[in-house]
Amino acid sequence: MAKYIFVTGGVTSSLGKGIIAASLAKLLQARGLKVTIQKFDPYINVDPGTLNPYEHGECYVTEDGAETDLDLGHYERFLSTYTSQANNVTTGRIYQTVINKERAGDFLGKTVQVVPHITDEIKRRMLLLGEGDTYDIVITEIGGTVGDIESLPFIEAVRQLQWELPDEDLMVVHLTLIPYLKAAKELKTKPTQHSVKMLSETGVHPDILVCRTEHPLNNDLKRKIALFCNVKTEAVIEAMDAPTIYEVPLLMLRQKLDLICLKKLNITKFEEPNLDKWKGFLDKLKYPKSKVTVGLIGKYIELQDAYKSILESFVHAGAINDVQVEVVNVHSEYITQQNVSEKLAGLDGLLVAPGFGLRGIEGKIVAVQYAREKGLPFFGICLGMQMAVIEFARNILGLKDAHSTEMDANSTHQVINMMEEQKKITMMGGTMRLGSYPCHITEGSLAHKIYGSTEITERHRHRYEFNSDYLQQFTDAGMIASGTNPQTGLVEIVEIPTHPFFIGVQYHPELKSSVENPAPLFVGFIGAAKKYNELSSGDKKKSASL
Ligand code: GLN
Repeated sequence: MAKYIFVTGGVTSSLGKGIIAASLAKLLQARGLKVTIQKFDPYINVDPGTLNPYEHGECYVTEDGAETDLDLGHYERFLSTYTSQANNVTTGRIYQTVINKERAGDFLGKTVQVVPHITDEIKRRMLLLGEGDTYDIVITEIGGTVGDIESLPFIEAVRQLQWELPDEDLMVVHLTLIPYLKAAKELKTKPTQHSVKMLSETGVHPDILVCRTEHPLNNDLKRKIALFCNVKTEAVIEAMDAPTIYEVPLLMLRQKLDLICLKKLNITKFEEPNLDKWKGFLDKLKYPKSKVTVGLIGKYIELQDAYKSILESFVHAGAINDVQVEVVNVHSEYITQQNVSEKLAGLDGLLVAPGFGLRGIEGKIVAVQYAREKGLPFFGICLGMQMAVIEFARNILGLKDAHSTEMDANSTHQVINMMEEQKKITMMGGTMRLGSYPCHITEGSLAHKIYGSTEITERHRHRYEFNSDYLQQFTDAGMIASGTNPQTGLVEIVEIPTHPFFIGVQYHPELKSSVENPAPLFVGFIGAAKKYNELSSGDKKKSASL
């Protein structure tokens, strides 16, 4: 059986529990241990799939088609291993299971209660991934902040496990904030003391405190925190703000976070950490040779978390291309034929983002047209690909009212329409085409050059698809389907071979990009943006006239 590390948070939200959990996992993995991370979220939604991105940021999709919290994206990007449905559990899912059991008669005669029935189900799921010998260590991040009403049953479950399991099989890492008061020129420990006190009142005692801080913690301060919070002084870990999240594993290594955990868990078989690949990536990230500027066209751009995986994919792809990627966020709602050249001036590439619904899509279509006509590298993801198809239909095929059924069910030319199997679906949660599907790529295409393979798999999250009744017209006019699903023929990739770099994909390549395995399409796109950036203005004009 595996050993368990629980990560809780105190004082405030947004302290970066996900990054700390992922960094610790990375270090343990680098020492030769098999590690996974799971997230327990206190909200009642069964999964975050029905949440607006403004509420909770991007919805991350796993290989097996689970719609999950964006922290799972961090776990995969740091570890280069896949998570699954079992790695994200919400209060809603826990209650759903318990209520279904009650209806099935499993508790016949009993009153069903938070303790023990809900907490038993939480504990069962907390231990699940650690059964068998797949993992040596399971790290569980508890969403929310200690003291929230919602997360109480999770904390209670950790308390019970702390009591049930041997001491060396479980530990708790608590993440807190040490604020700096400018006027007093002092770091303040009181909020941390209160937060640990609150956690202790629920019966859970932390073994390690990871303290987020803008200034270094000196030894006196560490001793003071240790004394008042009843942990060992070496277990007070300083987590300074870092210029990039990818620095954090190295900061934690210097603070010996991994060694303290190994000691507490009585794990004696481990190696010196092998972080060569990680450090190689960081070097490239820190010392780029040049810069490219790409536009991210979306409607949720006020909230950066809505496009988390795309932004991180740019970081991975930039490093491998030796360039810094500056992302200019352009709100699709405000792009018009009149202002498009001004709004998109100076860009070396254009990514049109995924999304749902009508708002902002005309701006996306105008942006696609601009990229197509100017020879500017173009990359469309999911809705972005669908908008590229609509733009081509309207402006090249002359189908003036071409649209997607999602936006206009009455248009004459629904070049994007609902997938057949979606038509009978009435429930919203977890019913899209989700997760990993194979795609066959045409030999000699741009996609083939980028992937170096004709058979790939990528992750999906959509209800609509390219309407293949129009495929011949598109092909004849110069937009080809270079990737299709081998079983159903569903169009997965479109490209315009006469354009320097124009590609749209129905799937989400950003979900499989990690530090050690950047997504090929992002690497190719940034490579194309770099080439475009190096063109003289005369050559740019020439590529526009192709
Ligand atoms: N709304 C589109 C669909 O459902 C695109 C979805 C997306 O971009 N993820 O097909």
